Amino acid sequence: MLSDRELEQYSRQLMLPDFTLEYQERLRSAWVLVVGCGGLGSPLAIYLAAAGVGRLILADGDTVERTNLHRQILHGEADIGRSKAASAAALISAHYPDCRVSQFTENLEEDALNQAVNSVQLVADGTDNYPTRFSLNRACIRAGKPLVSAAAARSEGQLATFDVGSGGACYRCLYPQEGATTALSCRENGVLGPVVGALGTLQALEVIKVLTGWGESLRSKVLMMDLRSYEQNIIEISRRDDCPDCGGELRRGFGL
Ligand SMILES: [Zn+2]
Repeated sequence: MLSDRELEQYSRQLMLPDFTLEYQERLRSAWVLVVGCGGLGSPLAIYLAAAGVGRLILADGDTVERTNLHRQILHGEADIGRSKAASAAALISAHYPDCRVSQFTENLEEDALNQAVNSVQLVADGTDNYPTRFSLNRACIRAGKPLVSAAAARSEGQLATFDVGSGGACYRCLYPQEGATTALSCRENGVLGPVVGALGTLQALEVIKVLTGWGESLRSKVLMMDLRSYEQNIIEISRRDDCPDCGGELRRGFGL
């Protein structure tokens, strides 16, 4: 049951004719792992906490740099040099006390990564490098957890949901080459703040969709946008039987 205060706090989303009390309760009981507290993770974590997601685990091994501030709105001038995960957790806790926040201030690897993925219902990837993206993908496949993945650089962005546990494609089905050269990185390519902010905001919406069942999600689809022209399209992602990450043993583990 939601309290009177919660009913008031979330009244504008509960006012939607098809956003039910049950959906709000699902958000409150949800645990989400947000990997990356940068340009994507900033609006992502803020909107998830604001929407009533009950628990966030924030992970980022980096510290805040001055070059981050134009797009990473979780952090400000006083946070330069501070752990991004700690800075993010402080802001989220101060603004949204209903959201229980824990933090990893080191890069999640191996056992810690698997443990964190196992403890949540959904993983949101807001990182900017392929090795982390591939290891997150494998951890999500092993745990049977959906992975909502976003990327942005220059004026372009992508958003997709990978859910092998429900028979969908995985991240590696989309990018079969480990170390592929198409990585979008703000550090190397530059980006306008609102471009990465738009993708992080859409990523929060997608997480809410997957957690509640509201609307249509991007399961096994990738939304591709060029915000210079506002052109966008959605492409279906096929499961690859020869996928090195989700093909064979891992997929058979789900009886698929
Ligand atoms: Zn795959």
